[in-house]
Amino acid sequence: MISIKSEYEIELLRKAGHIVYLTHQYLKDYLKPGITTLELDKLAYDFIISHDATPSFLNYEGFPNSICTSINEEVVHGIPKNRKLKNGDIISIDIGACYKGYHGDSAWSYAIGDVSDKKKYLLEHTEKCLYEGLAQVKAGNRLGDIGYAIESYAKKHKLGVVRELVGHGVGNHLHEDPDVPNYGKKNTGIILKENMVIAIEPMINLGTEEVFMEDDDWTIVTGDNKPSAHFEHTIVVKKDGYEILTGDDNFE
Ligand code: MG
Ligand code: MG
Repeated sequence: MISIKSEYEIELLRKAGHIVYLTHQYLKDYLKPGITTLELDKLAYDFIISHDATPSFLNYEGFPNSICTSINEEVVHGIPKNRKLKNGDIISIDIGACYKGYHGDSAWSYAIGDVSDKKKYLLEHTEKCLYEGLAQVKAGNRLGDIGYAIESYAKKHKLGVVRELVGHGVGNHLHEDPDVPNYGKKNTGIILKENMVIAIEPMINLGTEEVFMEDDDWTIVTGDNKPSAHFEHTIVVKKDGYEILTGDDNFE
C-alpha cells in the first residue's frame, strides 16, 4: 500500500532527512586516504545519536553497522570494516536516520584523493541520473517516467543500470511501497500523488549492469569488477515538482 503523508509526518521526515544530510556533510571532512570504513561508521553512529535520532540501517534485517560503505566495484550494502581508504578509490556511503519514528535515506558517492577520469565520469553522470529522475517528479506523472529518464540518460552515456535493486517509498518504515526502479517505460506504473515520499537512488556501473552478492551475504559487487556509483535522495512529491528532504534546502 502506498501511503500519502500528512503535513505532520512530512515535518518529521524533513527532520530525519536533514539529519541524514548533516551526517553526510560531517563525514565528508574525514574522507581521506588512511581512514577505515569502520571509523567512518563510528563517526556516523555518534553523530546521528547526538541528533536525537537512531541509525536506520543498524540491525535492519541483521545489518551489523550504521552506514553502508561500498568501495569501487562494490555497488551497495558494503559492511564497514578495518579497510583503509586509498588514494584513487571511490566510496558510496548510504546513510539512514530515524527521528521520532520517521526515516530519511540518502546515498552519495565520493572521490578519495585523485581518481581516474573514468571514475570521475561515472560519478558525474550517476549524480546526473539522479537529477534526471527527479526532474520527472510531480503529481500526475508516473513512476515509469522516473525510471525511463534515468535509464535513458545512463544508456546515452554507455553506463550500466543496476536492475536488481531499486528505490522505494519512505515513511515510518525505511522501505515502503512503491518500488522505484531505475529503468522503465514512460507513462507506465503508478501515478505520483502529492505528499507521497519516495527515495530515488540510481546505482550505475561503469561496465556491465550485472551484479552479484559477495559471500558476506550483504555486499553487492559488479559482475566485471568495474566501479559503481550510487546517489540517492528522499523526496516529497509536490503538485508541480518535488521537495528534497535529504538536501540543504530546508534549513539554510
Ligand atoms: Mg539509502
Ligand atoms: Mg534507499
